[in-house]
Amino acid sequence: MRYCKRCLYPDTKPGLGFQDGVCDACRNVGFKDKIDWDKRKKELKETLEKYRSKDGSRYDCIIPVSGGKDSHYQTYVIKEEFGLNPLLVNFHPHDFTETGRKNLENLKKLGVDCIEFSANPVIYNKISRFGLLELGDFEWPEHIGIFTIPVQVAVAYKIPLLVWGENSQMEYGGADADRVFLDKEWNEKHGGYFRDKVKPEDMTKYGIDKRDLKPYLYPSDEEIAKIGVTGIFLGHFIKWDIFKQLEFVEKLGFSRFPEHREGTYDNWENLDTEYTVFHDYFKFLKYGFGRATDHTSIEIRYGRMTRQEGLKLVKQYEGKIPRKRLKEFLQDAELTWDEFLKVCEKFTNKSLFKTDSNGNLIRDKNGDIEKIAYDNKD
Ligand SMILES: [Zn+2]
Repeated sequence: MRYCKRCLYPDTKPGLGFQDGVCDACRNVGFKDKIDWDKRKKELKETLEKYRSKDGSRYDCIIPVSGGKDSHYQTYVIKEEFGLNPLLVNFHPHDFTETGRKNLENLKKLGVDCIEFSANPVIYNKISRFGLLELGDFEWPEHIGIFTIPVQVAVAYKIPLLVWGENSQMEYGGADADRVFLDKEWNEKHGGYFRDKVKPEDMTKYGIDKRDLKPYLYPSDEEIAKIGVTGIFLGHFIKWDIFKQLEFVEKLGFSRFPEHREGTYDNWENLDTEYTVFHDYFKFLKYGFGRATDHTSIEIRYGRMTRQEGLKLVKQYEGKIPRKRLKEFLQDAELTWDEFLKVCEKFTNKSLFKTDSNGNLIRDKNGDIEKIAYDNKD
């Protein structure tokens, strides 16, 4: 495992490129500084005006929202700065947190209409189980639904423009950093979408029929073309500064999580779902890094923390089986503790963790495993 010289990202992160030992995400910081943001803001204004409803008979655009800090920022910018009348669309997660609910209600109070889509919980749970056992991701239905439902609503309500938030490829590194549009192609490459991962037919043994998948399927190319549906990244047009935005949305009433999320030291991201901590744990098993690495690496890039300080936090918080909701999680996943450990093992990249002389993972009394090394310099 090789690490970025500047931040704490490892080369096991899917899609992350390196040049002279520096990762894409770090190199994008310099790239963002060179962009003429005034020009981009003008381009945004032109784009928004092009899609604005001329006679007010429909909403001007859709903003897909979780209710988090980005949702607050997007909604404020679109409504207050550019004067549009957006429709918010939320894919309701099965494991919504109290903080998530509070934030979504606060978001509506910015003076907007919002559709909350609740998927059939029986099917949702079956897809979660499929996601966990086949892909190592219990949050999989949410990872699909947040991208498909807003586009389905766009088609149904005949609203052509969707305004997404940050471009994750720019902020977290990847090949498509300066992309304008979030469309089906982007979704297939970088979203939680079906293609390359699994086909709907593979799901029948989990009791999931193709017709159950309606909320999770992207509208057809014909439907999209008929309305002219297009999605843009606000992060392409406005310089994304996570910490400035966080400070700003807190003034709008956005609440942080009451405590740090398990697996990281921070409390400002992914606040809407309980089981995201398990998603982060499986990421750790697959790639040897988790959410604390994401958070510290962002802070290092923004100059808020040294690499050494970040590494200390990563070692302190990352890579332990989440405990707080473990009982409910095992119940929902219909797994015993031993079955859960077997699923963990299935998705663990054993070359990154300590094993005994027989090649078996060494577990402590809590079931936790240990990385071989955290840094080349260790
Ligand atoms: Zn880096």
